[in-house]
Amino acid sequence: MPSALKILKEVFGYPDFRGQQAEVIAHLANGGDCLVLMPTGGGKSLCYQIPALLRNGVAIVVSPLIALMQNQVAALHEIGVRAAVLNSSLSPEDTVTVEQKLLAGEYDLLYVAPERLLTARFLNLIERIAIALFAIDEAHCVSQWGHDFRPEYIQLSVLHERFPKVPRIALTATADLDTRREIIERLGLGAAKIFVSSFDRPNIHYQIIDKTNGRMQLLDFIKAQHQDDAGIIYCLSRKKVDEITAWLVNQGLRAVAYHAGMSSQERRQNQEKFLREDDIIMVATVAFGMGIDKPDIRFVAHLDLPRSIEGYYQETGRAGRDGRVANAWMAYGLGDVIQRRRMIEESEAQFKFKQVAVRKLEAMLSLCETTTCRRLHMLSYFGEMVDTVPCGNCDVCLNPPQVWDATVEVQKALSCVYRTGQNFGAGYLIDVLRGNRTARVKEWCHDKISTFGIGKDLSETTWRGIFRQIVVLGLLMTDSESHGILYLTELSRAVLKGQQSVHLRLPINSIRSSEKQPDSDITTTLNPTEHYLWERLRTWRAKTAKENGVPAYVIFHDATLQELVRLSPKTEDELRRITGIGVRKLDKYSSHLMAILRGD
Ligand code: ADP
Ligand code: ZN
Repeated sequence: MPSALKILKEVFGYPDFRGQQAEVIAHLANGGDCLVLMPTGGGKSLCYQIPALLRNGVAIVVSPLIALMQNQVAALHEIGVRAAVLNSSLSPEDTVTVEQKLLAGEYDLLYVAPERLLTARFLNLIERIAIALFAIDEAHCVSQWGHDFRPEYIQLSVLHERFPKVPRIALTATADLDTRREIIERLGLGAAKIFVSSFDRPNIHYQIIDKTNGRMQLLDFIKAQHQDDAGIIYCLSRKKVDEITAWLVNQGLRAVAYHAGMSSQERRQNQEKFLREDDIIMVATVAFGMGIDKPDIRFVAHLDLPRSIEGYYQETGRAGRDGRVANAWMAYGLGDVIQRRRMIEESEAQFKFKQVAVRKLEAMLSLCETTTCRRLHMLSYFGEMVDTVPCGNCDVCLNPPQVWDATVEVQKALSCVYRTGQNFGAGYLIDVLRGNRTARVKEWCHDKISTFGIGKDLSETTWRGIFRQIVVLGLLMTDSESHGILYLTELSRAVLKGQQSVHLRLPINSIRSSEKQPDSDITTTLNPTEHYLWERLRTWRAKTAKENGVPAYVIFHDATLQELVRLSPKTEDELRRITGIGVRKLDKYSSHLMAILRGD
């Protein structure tokens, strides 16, 4: 029997296992059940793909996303693994062909949608063949509290009842304890071994900036750091998705949209485009993303505040699955805080759910306002015991925000709210504080009150930051009908009376040249010759992918192309040692690669 390591090297072309892969594979290959909790990009697929090749029979992989199975199977075909898909996108004839090959033992892996798996016809079919294992991908879909809930997932417990001898592996990248408990309970995995990896994503640089003009800030960010890169931009509403897409296209960028208001055909087209080409920006609501296994997404941007740290972590986690440097960028302002709070108040949910929603939002806000390492903040939120060493690669670590005693300024702001009758939003209050004699200010005669102009010394941006933070701290609040009108709270009194001081963070905005930058991507450090080679390899890859009708990353990952540029192998033997080049790909592509490397 070939060893797991041999398969890793020869079939997948990777020199070593990552994290707990080797342990998981050994456990499953020996017939044990397990639950694998690994962050996105951790390498979950290999955990069942290698045992599928080691064990007798076919591995049945349950995945909720029909549209994405095809790419996984295409990637397996590229490396010579016998795999197929069975879902509703197949014609009746193709379905019969797949079923016949399945019975004839011609597959190592079969990907099925849960609704198909649960049919009597399919279950009877697989009772007649040898099954290597069941893999339940995206296992958090059993959780009724999560937003990816799939009712069919609950019925997957039937697998254990009908096939008690077949080992099962459930996999998810959802980190919280409640979901973990639910998966174990609902899938009957009480006796399964649990493998928990660290949820840290060291290659992702987290950055949360103060929103002044979200669109322009976004454009600056993309132009400065992500020309020709693939990325996702998350927006709260469908309307905003459409607007931002149109605007980016107008700015000369290649952007497509995705939200639940579009036809399923349009959505599929845009998703395919994003997956297949390597420089598309996807603008989307949170409806987009689950199961997207594109490894080379270089940035995830949020133009609106996510509702929870779980959501933020999951969405940003889609960047940099290939382990290369990636950016998680967000612009956030007072409007976001007000909007999110209003959405919770206006929702139809029961009191209990609203309370949970408020708690999650508060946690998200505290991540935004933190003055310590963002990574440590998130990991400790997920209950991970981490070293107390800050990461050194998030915006807070690189450029620690200054904290200042803002008691006097906050008092000015609060008394301005009071003097104007608790009737206005932040924009107006800032006009009064800064002494702007606008028509509206004059109309209300607020140029005559004592707080008029007492905040002239600070810029509008600084005042916005102050208002945002005092709302987050609960010193001011809004309610659902008030459209941003700010009221004093119980807590404001102590500050107004001078019984309590307030410390705020100074805004760290758009990176200035004196500020420290995150680790840079290798492609920015290439010399001209290397750069030329890199471009030629990319062009060849795009052409080959197109000819084969598969995404570019299925041919080779960026990481592989980078190693080719860096090590510039001269012989087939050297080529074989490059990460991501296994026996099959060496066979297929070595002559092309050698020609490009020689400069032909
Ligand atoms: P997940 O499903 O956990 O998000 P994947 O299984 O898609 O992650 O793996 C993420 C990326 O890492 C893939 O592109 C995969 O080919 C690569 N990968 C996985 N395991 C290894 C390994 N041991 N060595 C090198 N690359 C790996
Ligand atoms: Zn940090």
